[in-house]
Amino acid sequence: MSGPVIQLDHIAKVYRSGEVEVHAVRRATLDIQRGEFVAIMGSSGSGKSTLMNILGCLDRPTGGRYLLDGVNVAELSRAQLATLRNLKLGFVFQSFHLLARTTALENVELPMFYSKPLIPLRTQRKRAIEALKKVGLGDRLGHRPSQLSGGQQQRIAIARALVNEPELVLADEPTGNLDSRTSIGIMGFFQELNDTGITIVMVTHELDIASYCKRIIVMRDGLVISDTPNESRRNAGEERLKLDTAEQNANLA
Ligand code: ADP
Ligand code: MG
Repeated sequence: MSGPVIQLDHIAKVYRSGEVEVHAVRRATLDIQRGEFVAIMGSSGSGKSTLMNILGCLDRPTGGRYLLDGVNVAELSRAQLATLRNLKLGFVFQSFHLLARTTALENVELPMFYSKPLIPLRTQRKRAIEALKKVGLGDRLGHRPSQLSGGQQQRIAIARALVNEPELVLADEPTGNLDSRTSIGIMGFFQELNDTGITIVMVTHELDIASYCKRIIVMRDGLVISDTPNESRRNAGEERLKLDTAEQNANLA
């Protein structure tokens, strides 16, 4: 496929509750090309999650036009949308959204249950194991979320998002519940993933985290108020090394 992955033309979302109208997203017009790594920033209530939910076809806009891979998603049925989401999109959330009583392996297999055409169970298992190995959890297949750290749980969620080989990964505050060292690790995974050509759109309210992305969009009161390339992009691998060195020096001192 050529052309932008995402084309937004005057996208709007108005929530109505009784008399009150909330303009959560206003006139958002922008393109996201294949291979981009975009951070959406803004303070709480600025419309970031609303925009992400629209991008992920989890919610419909009340105005404007959204083309995903050139397809006008408004013209798709619920079933077609579900298939599109399953084929093209991977989701990562702040609170991981893992099934608690279920092993890491089963959590990662889950998105493949709904795949069309059907994926043979043995292939499902193989792909889930590969995805967990990729995020460094090959030795935790049988663990449940409660037996793992926050960073490990988020890595399971990333493996789950990757298992269907999506074109576009949408992550809403993926490091919001993690300490800074673990967050850098997660950003490292995203950078590696992006290096393989997968497009990533990530919400964060931390400039530190956004600094690992290639492009930074800022929202305020539902409006996109700035949209700029991030020339001084940081490399998560290098930042990790700096942290480790600083720690070693502190231990020696
Ligand atoms: P952010 O993710 O940037 O914190 P949100 O997109 O969650 O912001 O919210 C944007 C605005 O829309 C806020 O004023 C919020 O209160 C409102 N909002 C979000 N979801 C709903 C909803 N389901 N019903 C009514 N208002 C909502
Ligand atoms: Mg939010």
